[in-house]
Amino acid sequence: MTDKETAILTIAKQAEAAGGRAYLVGGCVRDKLMGKLPKDHDIEVHGIAPDALLEILKGIGEPLSFGESFGIYSLKGLDLDIAMPRREHAIGRGHRDFEVEVDPFIGTEKAAMRRDFTINALMEDILTGEIIDHFGGRQDLQEGIIRHVNDVSFKEDPLRVFRGAQFAARFGFKVSPDTVEICKGMATSELSSERVEGELQKAMLGSDTPSVFFEVLREMDQLEPWFREMKALIGIEQDPVFHPEGDVWNHTMEVLDRGAKLRDEADEPYAFLLLCLTHDLGKITTTTFEKGRIHAYGHESEGLPIAETFMNRLVGSKAVKEYVLGMIPSHMKPNMVAYSHSKVKNTNKMFDEVSSPKDLILFSVADRPVMAGDFKFQGDRDFLEGRLKIYQNTMSEPYVMGRDLIESGLDPGEDFKEILDYAHKLRLAGIPKAEALKQVLSYAKKLRTNKR
Ligand code: ATP
Ligand code: MG
Repeated sequence: MTDKETAILTIAKQAEAAGGRAYLVGGCVRDKLMGKLPKDHDIEVHGIAPDALLEILKGIGEPLSFGESFGIYSLKGLDLDIAMPRREHAIGRGHRDFEVEVDPFIGTEKAAMRRDFTINALMEDILTGEIIDHFGGRQDLQEGIIRHVNDVSFKEDPLRVFRGAQFAARFGFKVSPDTVEICKGMATSELSSERVEGELQKAMLGSDTPSVFFEVLREMDQLEPWFREMKALIGIEQDPVFHPEGDVWNHTMEVLDRGAKLRDEADEPYAFLLLCLTHDLGKITTTTFEKGRIHAYGHESEGLPIAETFMNRLVGSKAVKEYVLGMIPSHMKPNMVAYSHSKVKNTNKMFDEVSSPKDLILFSVADRPVMAGDFKFQGDRDFLEGRLKIYQNTMSEPYVMGRDLIESGLDPGEDFKEILDYAHKLRLAGIPKAEALKQVLSYAKKLRTNKR
């Protein structure tokens, strides 16, 4: 038995000895029934006073209390939360505006009522292994349904809208029609961005089909306000020759799901999937009809401010935002250079412009051009990976640096950056250092004589 299992069993035995009962609750019971390994465990102890519970926990380890008045403890180092049964009532509109009423004697049904979905309201008696299922959670688990527990209390926490979408995406479940209905009327604007992003991350990183998260929100009419840029993609038409899948929304959802299959290979999985989600936002403002064809000229750069607004609303990490905004303008390039078998100089430049060349290639696979008619280019990952190797080799060669120029007698001046940019161009063109140094010096000389 692991330390954690021993602790769980000890709590249960001592709670029983004190006249109470301990249950596993929430996600861990659900995960076990789904045949998955739960990552953390929650215990609810009924029928004994909070003081008595604290005494039991002190005998086992080092209880950490986060809000003793809420009757919630954890045991240091064990990924184990222990709580007293409680009722919760909303007293404000924020996620934290809840009145919590701890009551060891409310019984399992009332205690389970505060949970969001039936599959999350299951309990397991630790000593007998009996599953306590007041709301049909086991059947919903079998049928693959996300269903809210209680009409009245469900509405009190708007985060549940995103939790429902996220669980549907991760488990491949359907949201019950009455749950969709109730979610339609919930106001999500006052949630904190951290909480909403937390649910988005679970969908992006924990689902094989993150598109389900967005499709569910669309069905719930809950893309606004947090995902209003995605909503704007609905109905933006694309050239059917290049995009038989339909509008930009459909395309984005497909790219997202293909991206999820490549996620584990990516340098930055979450940022990579945000790139999949936002890469075509520029089509919102650039799509035009000309001579019977649909174009979106310049969408790769026009999308930047839109993606930035979206991420400023939702994404906490500056590094993630920078990654995405750095990649969007280049998102079309890999498939273009692969189609035309561009020169090494060009592929080097393309890779040099982004923070993760590897992820840019993965993106091009996810964004794979599916073309109808005789035009059947499907992307060329081998070509791109070959070129990435060349780029990496090129960058590992010695190259002209500022100090080489100074050592050669060039005074640093205002134009030094321009001169170094030129050196960088030669580096990307694969010119060996000795030759490049000559060329840079002669460039600098010309530059300085012309300016005089
Ligand atoms: P996972 O951790 O795999 O995402 P989980 O079900 O364990 O899923 P947690 O957020 O860890 O989810 O919450 C644990 C349990 O607490 C849930 O199963 C649910 O019963 C309850 N819970 C958590 N957040 C809420 C909420 N906003 N509203 C109602 N119940 C909640
Ligand atoms: Mg959990």
